[in-house]
Amino acid sequence: MVVRLICPDADQNKFIDEVVEQRQNGRNAKFFTKIKDDWKARVKAYLRENGDPAIIKPWQEALSHATTFKNLYLSPDENSVQHPVLTNLRSRELQLCPACGEDGTPNTLDHYLPKQTYPEFSITAHNLFPMCDICQGEKLTETVNSANERLFVHPYFDQFIEVQVLHLQIRPPYEAPENIQLTPDSGLDPAQSALVARHLVHLAIPKRYYHFFKDEYLRLLRLVRTMRQQDLNITTILEVFREKARDKSINSWGHIFYTGVLSNPGLMDYLKQGQLPEKL
Ligand SMILES: [Zn+2]
Repeated sequence: MVVRLICPDADQNKFIDEVVEQRQNGRNAKFFTKIKDDWKARVKAYLRENGDPAIIKPWQEALSHATTFKNLYLSPDENSVQHPVLTNLRSRELQLCPACGEDGTPNTLDHYLPKQTYPEFSITAHNLFPMCDICQGEKLTETVNSANERLFVHPYFDQFIEVQVLHLQIRPPYEAPENIQLTPDSGLDPAQSALVARHLVHLAIPKRYYHFFKDEYLRLLRLVRTMRQQDLNITTILEVFREKARDKSINSWGHIFYTGVLSNPGLMDYLKQGQLPEKL
């Protein structure tokens, strides 16, 4: 699940000044000079409202010059002001996708507010973070639901995701669990829980997590068989696995898995002394 990222600290007013300055020799010089102050005001509003699409509505001036803005992102000159900013954002060495928490090294950037509908935030660092291909394919240009509530957690601004936001419930039969459930943390307030639920559905996370779970659970049963043969302490070893996964993120898929296992007394009892499936 979602992972908190450190918010970029670049001065956006200075950044826009420099970008506009660099455009002064190009064919869009007049346009950028004209909209500079409004552009700054838009970015200021983004930062004030934490990028919330329920509040920040698309800007007609940018939409009618969408290609001009998007090109700042899509084909930046190597000497451009935005080039090192984008390179830095891409080169963060993450071991998992901040949007879903699945292991991997996402190196494409997603625009929290899509560049198609919000072209003026194409190169705003606070609007950009790495995301895996599957999440990008699910998110596309979605932003709010029909009730004008935002669909996605923001990895820079939603501080509540510093805790474990999801818990895994595994029910018997433990030799082959038929249903598992991911539930939001009971410490979240109702608005946070509802946001997490929308985020999960719109990135198709439960379906993807279930595939991960099936593989990981089989692996766990095989390991338990070996641990029993070698008379090893199952709880201690699983706690080590949990800590290793937590080191990536408290919301990594592995950490959610191992906390779900270790906090389930019935399952722990089964792992220690239950009848394991013959075929593993
Ligand atoms: Zn993802």
